[in-house]
Amino acid sequence: MLSVIIPAYNEQENIPAASQRLGEILNPVTDYELIFVDDGSKDRTWEIISDLAENDSHIRGLRFSRNFGKEGAIFAGLKAAVGDCVAVIDCDLQHPPELLPKMYAVWQGGAEVVEAVKASRGKESLVYKLFAKSFYRMMKNSSNINLDGASDYKLMDRKVVDALNEMPERLTFFRALSSWVGFKTERIEFDVAPRNAGKTKWSFKKLFKFALSSITSFTNLPMQIITVSGILFFIFAVILGIQTIVNFCMGNSANGFSTVILLILIIGSIIMLGIGIIGYYLSKIYEEIKCRPRYIVAGQAGAPRKNTEADERND
Ligand code: UDP
Ligand code: MG
Repeated sequence: MLSVIIPAYNEQENIPAASQRLGEILNPVTDYELIFVDDGSKDRTWEIISDLAENDSHIRGLRFSRNFGKEGAIFAGLKAAVGDCVAVIDCDLQHPPELLPKMYAVWQGGAEVVEAVKASRGKESLVYKLFAKSFYRMMKNSSNINLDGASDYKLMDRKVVDALNEMPERLTFFRALSSWVGFKTERIEFDVAPRNAGKTKWSFKKLFKFALSSITSFTNLPMQIITVSGILFFIFAVILGIQTIVNFCMGNSANGFSTVILLILIIGSIIMLGIGIIGYYLSKIYEEIKCRPRYIVAGQAGAPRKNTEADERND
């Protein structure tokens, strides 16, 4: 059985369309369940999900008590899923559902993670593309995880899902964690479709914060940069020190006031930057150590579907 996790935040227009398209596509392929995770929507998303869940035993819903973010929604879905393989897909049909049967076939062929990678990034502004590119490059260089064209559109074997469910960390980055766990991975390319209805739920600020948090949860590189800049400045200080002493001995030590001002400015800003970076990591540690749950489920709709295929295998 295939479980499909669909995070939804204010997606009232997209849910009926998504559930219908997915149903039509998956019905001939295998038994399936659709798990809609309502990430604290403020519109009619939850009513629509619970209506669908009532009328269709393939559909299930989870509702968060507030907006916890897409990551929380994905991980709640992973925990709830009962399928032998689990797929994650966006609610807005930007991830073409037609690809799912193909991904499913690749999984049947022995792959444990099937990643759908973006062949083209769809309609995005130049600045956005630039930011995405430099973020992915930084992730690749510092943590050795290739996120080129990566999306959250994936299909994973039960083993992988169990491994992800065991992860104790709270500040997760699903896209990278699913590569980090390893396993036999295959990639399939797809073109990002335009959004079915509604607007993107990610503001630039939200994305930027998400990128920062993902970098810090995967690499300590920014901290090492402080050390490197410390070393560079030490070398610089030695050279300048020698020059100052030489000047003093030659009797023209009164000059160089601009050097002093520059030094104070540069050293001050480097120290501030260093403290800022350390503070950022500290705040991440603080977040993790509080051990608050990643999300709070306020309601459920529909019962888990019986995984008959697995039962048969076990008999
Ligand atoms: N989403 C979510 N919680 C959020 C933001 C987004 O569950 O806080 C869901 C959203 O409903 C959609 C998916 O994540 O199913 C991708 O969001 P969106 O299409 O807005 O992102 P984009 O495609 O622009 O990257
Ligand atoms: Mg989208």
